[in-house]
This record gives sequence, C-alpha cells and structure tokens, in this order.
Amino acid sequence: MLENKDSLKTPISSMGEFALIEHLTKHFDVKQNSTIKSIGDDAAVIDHKKQTVVTTDLLIEGVHFDLSYMPLKHLGYKSVVVNVSDIFAMNATPTQITVSIAVSNRFPVEALEELYAGIATAAKYYNIDVIGGDTTSSTHGLMISITALGEVAKEQVVYRDGAKENDLVLLTGDLGAAYLGLQILEREKQVFKVNPNSQPDLEPYSYLIERQLKPEARKDIPKLLKELGVKPTSMIDVSDGLSSEILHICKQSKVGCMIYEDKIPLDPQVITTSEEFNMDSTTIALNGGEDYELLFTISQEDYPKIKANPSITVIGHILKPTEGTHLITRGDTKIPIIARGWSATQENQ
Ligand code: ADP
Ligand code: MG
Repeated sequence: MLENKDSLKTPISSMGEFALIEHLTKHFDVKQNSTIKSIGDDAAVIDHKKQTVVTTDLLIEGVHFDLSYMPLKHLGYKSVVVNVSDIFAMNATPTQITVSIAVSNRFPVEALEELYAGIATAAKYYNIDVIGGDTTSSTHGLMISITALGEVAKEQVVYRDGAKENDLVLLTGDLGAAYLGLQILEREKQVFKVNPNSQPDLEPYSYLIERQLKPEARKDIPKLLKELGVKPTSMIDVSDGLSSEILHICKQSKVGCMIYEDKIPLDPQVITTSEEFNMDSTTIALNGGEDYELLFTISQEDYPKIKANPSITVIGHILKPTEGTHLITRGDTKIPIIARGWSATQENQ
C-alpha cells in the first residue's frame, strides 16, 4: 500500500491540518437520530434516550498492527470492530465513534484515505456515525485511538459480574482462527524476506487470514438475544483468549466454572493448521486472541430458547466460588484455567 507510485504520494504537509481533516471526513453523513451535532464544531452533541455506553481502544503501529501485511483499509475497519465489539458485549447498540490519529510524515495523504475508507465501510456496516476526533503528528509510525459510544435500555445492560451458580456458559462462533491467521502472515513475511518472488498458496488458510485481517463484531447477538427474550447474566467479548475472559467473568461474578475442552468450537482450518504448527488447538483457543466472539452466561431456564441456534455453543457451567475454575480435557482430566496459558502437564486438582 505504501509502495504506491510517486504520483500517488501527496505529502500530508502539503495540505495543512484543517484541509486534511475536511478531506478525510467530508463523506461522513449522520445516520443516528441521537447525533445532534457531528464533525465541525468544538465538540459533538449526542442525545441518547437510553443509557450511554462508552469504550476506547488505542492501537499502536508495531505493537498492535504491522503494516507490512495489514492493509490500511483493513486496519481502519478493524479499529472500528474492536471498539463496537466492546459495546455489543454490554448488550448495547453502538451509535457513534470518534477517531483520533497520530501520523508521521512517512504516510502520504493517500495512506490516510485508505485508512478512512476502511473506517467508513465499518461505520456503514455497523450503522454508526463518525462524530469527531483529533489529528496530530507523530515522530514515528501510526497511532489510532477510537472511542465508541452506544446506547442500551437500563434494564438490558449486561455486566461481567452477574454470573450465578448453575448458569450455563455460552460462546458464539469459534476460537483460535485470528491467532493462527497472524502466525501464517508472520511466516509468509519471513518467507518473502528471503524470496520476494515466492507465490504462497494461502487458500488453505483463507478463513484464518480473514479472521485476522477482517474480523467482525457480533452485532447479531444482542439483537438475537432480545428477540429470544434472553438476557445474559454476564457477558464479555473474547479479545484475549477464552482463559482470560472466563476468568474475568468468574472473578467479577465471584463464582467458579467448569469448561469442557471437547465443547470448545474450532473451525477445521484451526485444527489442521495447529497440527502443521505443532501446536495444541485448545491452547490456541484458550490463549490466542482477537476472536471478537461473545462469551456469556445464561440461567438454565433460558436454555430452551437458545439451544436451536447454530452459532451459539454451550461450553460449560458456573459453579460455587469454592469449586475454582477448571477445564475438563478430552481425556477427562481436570486442569485449572489460568490466564494466558494452561499446562497439559499439570496434575489433577
Ligand atoms: P479542535 O482544535 O477544536 O480540537 P480540530 O481542528 O482538531 O478542532 O477538529 C475540527 C473538527 O474535526 C472537530 O469536530 C473534530 O472532532 C473533527 N476531527 C478532527 N480530527 C478528526 C479525525 N481524525 N477524524 C474525525 N474527525 C476529526
Ligand atoms: Mg483537535
């Protein structure tokens, strides 16, 4: 992307800050009734009729993304996704975002156009307004900070701390693919360094790469839960792997849990590619990241309403706090779940 022809490289300095902001944001229209004042004043004005949910994520080049395989358009899209995913995890509807960028003079205007094209595509798909932001320079690299706002009826908001003993633990979609997608992209980057003419066949990894480069947030889930008349007792989005997230729920809800290894949903590409990398697919699901699926608990009486849904899997249940947090392996061994990793060599507890 940055290797565009010279004719396509307009230095940011040739535009000036105000012209640049105007140029990047001119196509953003207002879709939400709650957006009273959008880009162009000292601050935006919002009038949410329900409760307002707010979340922020900061993405740093070299830490959270690598532009050698992440096209800027995808980066823009993904920056929005990671934020709206947090809003859905509150059982809320995202409505607005602000976008702040710090950018070095290594980036031409065309690069920012790509980034904003991705942001605009995501804003359209998730039906949110881009209502402001900030633009500044950096000495090195690119930083993007997005703040998302959403709304939710007071009685519908779902926190991490409501899981109760005997509740079922549910998960949307499948896990581990985005982590493996990153491993594939890293591998191809190394191969490319050695042999720039190599033509990798990435078809066997298409799902993994898509999950890494173009993830989606589960906007269908809060809607589905509402239609089914199910309010989760707790919910979190899976950004850091299943272990960390289930531990957050258990810690904040002051409960224990039992998760079953054979119930953790995995895509066939995750299974074959883990084998290729000599890695355990369960470890990847537990400790990978960037899945942006939703992990939630429901009371047992709500189970009949949800059980027919193919994109939701029951993976365990909630226990008394004294029972601890464990995984039952395929071999029927009980292993404590620990944040960022569990060891298959641990003894029975
Ligand atoms: P101020 O000096 O008051 O901070 P700015 O000149 O930074 O104002 O911004 C002017 C308008 O453009 C504001 O509405 C601001 O929210 C918006 N804006 C600035 N940068 C961005 C950006 N990167 N993306 C979207 N909106 C932006
Ligand atoms: Mg400003």
